[in-house]
Amino acid sequence: MSLESWVTKTFASDEPAGFGYGWISGTLSIFLGALSIFAVLCFRWPDYFVMEEMRGKYPIPLMRAILELSIGLSFFLAFLSAMLRRKKVLAVSGILLALVAVALGGSDAALGSYSENRRIYLGLDWFILTLLVLTLIFVPMERIFPYRREQSVFRRGWLTDIQHFFVSHLLVQVLTYLTLLPATVIFAWLIGPQLQTAVQSQPLWLQFIEIMIVADLAEYAIHRTFHTTAWLWRIHAVHHSVEHMDWIAGSRLHLLEIVVFRGGTFLPLYIFGFSQPAVYAYLAFVSFHAVFLHTNTGFRLGWLEHVIAMPRFHHWHHSSEYEALDKNFALHFPVIDQIFGTKHLPDGRWPKTYGVLGYKLPEGWWAQLLWPFRKDGKAPPAVEAHEPKPQDG
Ligand SMILES: [Zn+2]
Repeated sequence: MSLESWVTKTFASDEPAGFGYGWISGTLSIFLGALSIFAVLCFRWPDYFVMEEMRGKYPIPLMRAILELSIGLSFFLAFLSAMLRRKKVLAVSGILLALVAVALGGSDAALGSYSENRRIYLGLDWFILTLLVLTLIFVPMERIFPYRREQSVFRRGWLTDIQHFFVSHLLVQVLTYLTLLPATVIFAWLIGPQLQTAVQSQPLWLQFIEIMIVADLAEYAIHRTFHTTAWLWRIHAVHHSVEHMDWIAGSRLHLLEIVVFRGGTFLPLYIFGFSQPAVYAYLAFVSFHAVFLHTNTGFRLGWLEHVIAMPRFHHWHHSSEYEALDKNFALHFPVIDQIFGTKHLPDGRWPKTYGVLGYKLPEGWWAQLLWPFRKDGKAPPAVEAHEPKPQDG
């Protein structure tokens, strides 16, 4: 049995999942209990679990207070769920997780020390922070402004996506290193000091807009290449295998794609020599915009949708319908697709189905990591299957 079907079986119930039935409280209890355990690990072994950039920067008393609140809430919500719900599996799981967090030291956990010679670490703190921030922003947004109201937070495939999210955040150190590698090592000779001085002398807001344009042109080129090159398409197909769009769907990315995509986008920014604050502002913007584009939200902006990419634009990119195949490669500006003849944003319509046309990828992080390299009979046809064909009849 796959992890997903096991989880689904354990948590499924004929009881309703809406407000007042103990499902929300039970789920939140589990969520906070699990995050509390991770947070305690960060407290005790920061050497292994805290990003180098953040070491010594966390306000520890505040972090302890938040952790205490989180563990307390996890217990409280578990009891609430137990009271409201006939099936107690959510409540019991929440209590068990909270108990483990307490057993590991809870909010009084001894603060571990850093050693000078530790070179490799996992970004567990990065995972906790990003997950908390994104969940707080996007889960309520998708509940309040949904496009598909009936779609659950735990729709099919979510477990695969959270695994991708988990791993890509844990591996933040090696992924950042590999992303910067082409710019700082391989193409460093391309840098011209005059160009960089001229670029950096502009106001930051102007640099920010220029970065968006330069980066999106790069993103368009890389993205389109991923679609039109057979072996790259197999890697990118992992991202397209998601069949339900929401905020976490965009996390489904093969590690190789993360490195190539980010590295290739950063390279021109580095060569132009944009100032660091402008680049950081763009990184913050793109991480939110990329997540937003995948959300299950029905925002409509009229003509503005043709200027700045909205979820509907990127949903069409993920569609498995013929009319939408290999369309909408840009991340920010639909006009780039318009210029190159790949824009598809029919008035008022949304796609009906998502995924890779012609074949199904396996679920699960490991299976998807290995999938592009599999040569066995089950391996699907490559890029041809994805190319638009005239529909029969
Ligand atoms: Zn794509």
